[in-house]
Amino acid sequence: MLDKKVSALINDQINKEFYSAYLYLAFANFYAEKGLNGFANWYQIQAKEEQDHAMLMYQYLHNNNEKVTLEAIAKPDCSLSGLSDPLQAGLKHEEYVTSLIHTIYAAAQEARDFRTTQFLDWFVKEQGEEETNANDLITKMELFGSDPKGLYMLDSELGARVYTAPSLTL
Ligand code: MG
Repeated sequence: MLDKKVSALINDQINKEFYSAYLYLAFANFYAEKGLNGFANWYQIQAKEEQDHAMLMYQYLHNNNEKVTLEAIAKPDCSLSGLSDPLQAGLKHEEYVTSLIHTIYAAAQEARDFRTTQFLDWFVKEQGEEETNANDLITKMELFGSDPKGLYMLDSELGARVYTAPSLTL
C-alpha cells in the first residue's frame, strides 16, 4: 500500500498529464490552422507523450492496488495569436509540471514511500528534458523564426520528429 496522500497526489497528476496532452493538442491545432504542419506534428507527439505519462501513473496506482478516480479534463487554458505563443506557454507549463512532480516527490520522501520516489525518478529526469526541449524551441524560433526560409526549415525539422514510447515500463 502506498501512502494515502502520495496516492491522492498521483491520482491528481493523472488528470494533469491528460490536461497537458489536451493543451499540446490545442497548440498542434493552432499551428495546423496556420499551415505549419511540422510544428503541429511536434505538438501532436508531445500530446501523445503526455498521455503516456498519465497511463504510467494510472498503471503504477493499479499495480499497487490503489483506486484510480478519473475527473473531468479542463478546457485548454491558452490564448494564442503570435507564432511563438505556444512555445512560451509550453515552457511555462512544463515549469509548472516540474513543480507538481517535485511536490509529489517531496511528499513521498516525507512518507518514506521509497517505491514511489524510485518511480518518480524517471519523471524528474523527464521534466528536465521537457524544459530543455521547450527552451530550445524558443531559442530556435528567436534565431530563425522571423525569416520565412528559416521558419520553413524549422517547420521541416519539427515535422521529422517521430513518436517513441516512454523508456519507463511498469
Ligand atoms: Mg508530462
